[in-house]
Amino acid sequence: MGAVVERFGGLVAAQASAHPGRARWLLSSAYRLVGAQMRYIPPKGMSPARSYMQSVTSPMMGKALSRPGTCACVNVFLPCELLHAMDITPMIPEGLSCYLVSTAAERPFLQAAEEHGVPESYCSYHKLLLGLAESGVLPAPLCVLNTSLACDANQLTFRRLAERYGVPRFTVDVPMGTSSADLDYVADQLRAMGAFLEKCSGRRLDPERLRLAMERSRRTVEDYRRYLDGRASCSRTEELSAEMFAVMALHPLLGTEESARFAALLARETIARPGPSAGKRILWMHTVPHWQASMMEVLSKSGRCEIVACDMNYEGLAEIDPDRPYESMARRLLESGYNGGAERRVRRSLDMARRLNADGVVYFCHWGCKQTSGAAQYAKRTLEDAGFPTLVLDGDGCDSGNVNDGQMLTRLQAFLEQLEG
Ligand code: SF4
Repeated sequence: MGAVVERFGGLVAAQASAHPGRARWLLSSAYRLVGAQMRYIPPKGMSPARSYMQSVTSPMMGKALSRPGTCACVNVFLPCELLHAMDITPMIPEGLSCYLVSTAAERPFLQAAEEHGVPESYCSYHKLLLGLAESGVLPAPLCVLNTSLACDANQLTFRRLAERYGVPRFTVDVPMGTSSADLDYVADQLRAMGAFLEKCSGRRLDPERLRLAMERSRRTVEDYRRYLDGRASCSRTEELSAEMFAVMALHPLLGTEESARFAALLARETIARPGPSAGKRILWMHTVPHWQASMMEVLSKSGRCEIVACDMNYEGLAEIDPDRPYESMARRLLESGYNGGAERRVRRSLDMARRLNADGVVYFCHWGCKQTSGAAQYAKRTLEDAGFPTLVLDGDGCDSGNVNDGQMLTRLQAFLEQLEG
């Protein structure tokens, strides 16, 4: 991490407890500036799709901090087309956490969360969000919305946030099955969520605007599928955060023109330059430690390997019918690779590893994510039985304090040697 970033993180940390408003201003100004830089003077070598997506997400994070009363706090799997149809900005804890760690500003908020009773072993994405709330740096949003997918942490974090802020909350319960009764059950909840949002915001949900948002989602998913098809025979070496930007486009931003443009750019860039990979092709499962310089060095810069896909970006590419918006959003949740038992998630990754000509799989056990850790040995066994060497790598997507950097590096390098050998 650069000296400037470290200094900025120190500045935020110094303000966070005594002057939360100043810390908020520093963070939101920095995120807006990054957005402007990505739009007008993107770094050399960065793909247009990625710099474009960052130019969209960075100001969105800035807005979440500076104008939270116009935002709804949501978890990453919540279908957001309803919000886009009503001009309500989603505020995404997982996204904010990624930005905080990228600006070396996570420490005071993790500490604030722990001082307010959040256990050390809790998922650090959620811990950071709770720390932002407890420190007063993140003021109250309009409302809180979450799904029961993909983890128990959602239920605990979002309930606590709504109570802390005294704002209304809506939860979409996602059953594990995929029957038509399950589909109707979730679709009805999403209809109720629309009514809930109308009440909270005082805005009307226009069915035509929702249909248009779904139409954009359909285009995005189709283009992302085209990108994945092209990726099977194309080499791309990108920064680790590239997959996290795709997570934003395919989840909270799905339904916006921006996410549709991102997917179209990505497909175009990839299909236009097929060619063999110089290094090993790695399929990545779960979140990415994008902030970790040692991982970045090996995975993005060494030329020894490239990440061909991350399972968070193909878990929810279900068919979309814009004329049946609620059923389409419900199908995305029910058919998610993260819904139900670990078998579905692992099977989907196995299919993708074959489709993308992967040489091996890295299964990333993010600190505090119990369902990912719990399924690690099952995933490793299943993927290896099918011929894909698999590394179970312990780490943390947003808290450097939980990471043994040297050990991670050694294990990753040994795995690459195994693949190369
Ligand atoms: S990392 Fe795991 S525990 Fe944390 S929010 Fe994601 S699914 Fe939930």
